Amino acid sequence: MTFNGGYNVMLEGAPSPGIAPYQKPEVLYLPLFSESLDFSNLQVEHGEAVTKGQILAKDPINFSVPLLAPMDGTVNLERAERHIALENLSSAKEGAAMQAEDENQRQTLLRMGVWSSLARVDSGRIPDPENTPACVVIPVSRLEPFFPDAQTLLKDALEQFGAGLDLLHKILGDTEVMLICAEHDSGIKSQLQTVTAERSAWLKLFEVPELYPFDSPALAAQLNDLNPEKTWATDLQAVLAVRAAIEDNHPFVKRIISVSGPMVDSPGHHQLPIGYPLADLGFRNGGVPLRVVNGGVLTGTAVESAQLGLDCGCRSLNVLEEMTKREVLAFVQPGFTKRSYSNTFASFFKPLFKEKFTTALGGEARPCVFCGFCESVCPAGIIPHLIYRYLDHDRPEDAYRVEFDKCIDCGLCSYVCVSKINHLELFRAERQRAIAEAIEGE
Ligand code: SF4
Ligand code: SF4
Repeated sequence: MTFNGGYNVMLEGAPSPGIAPYQKPEVLYLPLFSESLDFSNLQVEHGEAVTKGQILAKDPINFSVPLLAPMDGTVNLERAERHIALENLSSAKEGAAMQAEDENQRQTLLRMGVWSSLARVDSGRIPDPENTPACVVIPVSRLEPFFPDAQTLLKDALEQFGAGLDLLHKILGDTEVMLICAEHDSGIKSQLQTVTAERSAWLKLFEVPELYPFDSPALAAQLNDLNPEKTWATDLQAVLAVRAAIEDNHPFVKRIISVSGPMVDSPGHHQLPIGYPLADLGFRNGGVPLRVVNGGVLTGTAVESAQLGLDCGCRSLNVLEEMTKREVLAFVQPGFTKRSYSNTFASFFKPLFKEKFTTALGGEARPCVFCGFCESVCPAGIIPHLIYRYLDHDRPEDAYRVEFDKCIDCGLCSYVCVSKINHLELFRAERQRAIAEAIEGE
């Protein structure tokens, strides 16, 4: 197996293992929107008392996946725009199971909020519950530096994880399952080997180098010659949630998320209900403006100021300083604290340090200098600067001709670019355009 590119992204502020406690919220703000979902079909009224797991809204575009009440409470539709606020929260029934219903198990996963954690590898969209994948790919090792740590997610839960895999395999029509594990992640690898040994007929362990982004399901599909249209992806928490939904009737309304980055005092993991107020997460700001990034540090998107609570797709939040002023005489500083793929900074002499990162671009936007760094890190073996140029000149057909469809959205090309060209933004815009076109044609 040939692995191209990849990079060891070393940043300050990674989450420490273990789950830190968090205070019970006074109110939950459930966003009616997220990067991939739009819960426009409301199922509750203002002032209505709801119980944990009750459907509050549905997304009609995405197979009516539901937004669920994470706790018992009272609905307030007027407190915050584009949110359902849940007040008078009660945890009296925190551990309570929902009523079982007479339905098939795929419908159970849909009703319990688990189905929306599945994604098609070719488009990132939620798959049709009527379809069956040939393979489901699940990353286990954490190669994106600020994602939740596998040891934390699987602590005391290995047996449940195995049971979740069994159910997923069966519910999805005896599909094959592939776990992606870093070669050097010996702790988690030995645990997984016990899980795979009993299920070797349909469960495979795919070992990858310990470099970002080799835990990408889209890349695993390419490297294993899987048809991306028939390959789905999910994550560890969703596998545990499958078991909890089917065997215990528990809705998927809480997530373990990592809260990390240089502007977080104690980067770590927290188990939080969807809608948990972002303002209660205690980011340190010291008077400086912050950027809160939902998702990976290289691939996440800035949380809109209008968003007040955790959305149901959130896996990690990263908090960094929003640079509003120019760095004075930055170009004459030796750069012991700055990392560069080109090793032009003095940090070249201390290779293992972790960089403190901000939103600074290191100067104005600059044209491509054809250094080739983006090409050398690209794990898909394509030429990011060429694709960027085609898309920037509104020539998408040429971009696809040079295999833009192989791009796995990892963001490494933007990260290493000496001219700080935002490839990822343009690549995503083109993908959104293509998806919108496909939806229109359906
Ligand atoms: S072109 Fe795509 S796959 Fe290659 S580095 Fe850029 S984002 Fe990653
Ligand atoms: S890394 Fe940036 S400057 Fe270098 S070739 Fe790629 S796009 Fe051009």
